[in-house]
Parts: sequence; C-alpha cells; structure tokens
Amino acid sequence: ILRDYDLCISCYRCVRVCAEQEGDHAINIINRGFDSQISTEFNGILKDSACTFCGQCVQTCPTGALADKKAIRSAHLEGEIDKTRSICPYCGVGCSVDLLTKGEKLVGIQPAMDGPANKGALCVKGQFAFDFVQHPDRLTTPLVRGQDGCLHPASWDQALDRVAEGFRKVVQKHGRHSVYGVASGRAPSEAAYLMQKFIRAGFGTNYIDNCSRA
Ligand code: SF4
Ligand code: SF4
Repeated sequence: ILRDYDLCISCYRCVRVCAEQEGDHAINIINRGFDSQISTEFNGILKDSACTFCGQCVQTCPTGALADKKAIRSAHLEGEIDKTRSICPYCGVGCSVDLLTKGEKLVGIQPAMDGPANKGALCVKGQFAFDFVQHPDRLTTPLVRGQDGCLHPASWDQALDRVAEGFRKVVQKHGRHSVYGVASGRAPSEAAYLMQKFIRAGFGTNYIDNCSRA
C-alpha cells in the first residue's frame, strides 16, 4: 500500500471502512487541525500494526492518498483497462472480483461491490496476491521425477500414471486408511462430489475433508 498524505483530504473514509466494515481498527487520526494525519497505533509502520492488508482503505480513498503499489507498477503499459468479472480462486468464500487487465496483462483486482459473498470486501489474498497468474516460474506442464532424481516435463497421462502407482503402493503397504483426501474449497460442487467418491469408493476410507472447513 502506497501512502502519500499530501493528497489526503481528511475525509476519514479509510478509518471508517477499517473499523466499521473490516472490524480491524488498524488506523485512526492523530493530531488535530492542519496536523491531522492518518496513522496506526503509536504511529508505527503498517506492518507492525493490526492491519491485515485487506486493501479496503485503498479502494475507498477518493484522492489516491492510498494506492495499490502493484497497480501503479503497470501504469506505463499502453492501452485501456478492461474489467472482467470473476471469482477469487483462493478459498471457499468465493468473493466476486473484477479483474483489471491491459491487453493480456493482469494489472490489478477490485472487489465487486455487488458480489453476493463479499459485497465489496476482499482479504489480502484476493486483493493483492495475483502475481502467480503470469509468473514465469508458474508450471505449464506436469513434472515427473526421473531415475536421476530430477524433475522432467511429462504428459498428463504419464503424470497421472505415476500418481496412481504411488497411491497403490501406499495402500498395499499401509492399508486403506493411509490415504486422506482434502478437496479444494474453490472447486465446484460436482468436483467435490467426485473427490469424496474417489476417496470413499476408490480407497474404501472415509478420510475425506474440504479446505473450507479449516
Ligand atoms: S480515505 Fe484517503 S483522503 Fe480520506 S482520510 Fe483516508 S487517506 Fe485521506
Ligand atoms: S475471503 Fe479472501 S481468499 Fe477467500 S474468496 Fe474472499 S478474497 Fe479470496
């Protein structure tokens, strides 16, 4: 979060959204009159405060006194910003987001004000953790460990055969309850159903859970 208090008009929207919407009370006003300034408790840095970096203050600031550093990083790119409605991929809450793109590049994320699950709010992951989408280290093909101990690119069939072989070995050696499935909270109901079927019918154990329960 980039802070430039020369642009601040002391509207206190950031203080109110932090206290009243997030329930966090991480920021407030210090001093009075011309010396008024938004600050954390004991005027420390945000990192050491109660701030959870949800970004709600950035979204509500009308002047740019608070800004998203990551969005500014892409300011030099040519072209208009397009908005595409989507769902945050991180957890089972399923917050609605508007993805901001310039051409093929994802440059920022805004919470959807009419999102049924979040109504304009996001947590730090949904708001800021989008670098993985176009990160050069992101895997684009399965990797399978070879005899040499190194990972090698493989087809999906090869990778799935290896996984199946590993499951079979573990069950033969340690029994059916040695397998424990955790379904992804971002998966649709149909995929969650298939996951429990896979664990219950495939391995004969009821050790199945969902990350949304954690
Ligand atoms: S929302 Fe922006 S302009 Fe308003 S008080 Fe906070 S930092 Fe200042
Ligand atoms: S709570 Fe956070 S991680 Fe979960 S869907 Fe909403 S923004 Fe994403």
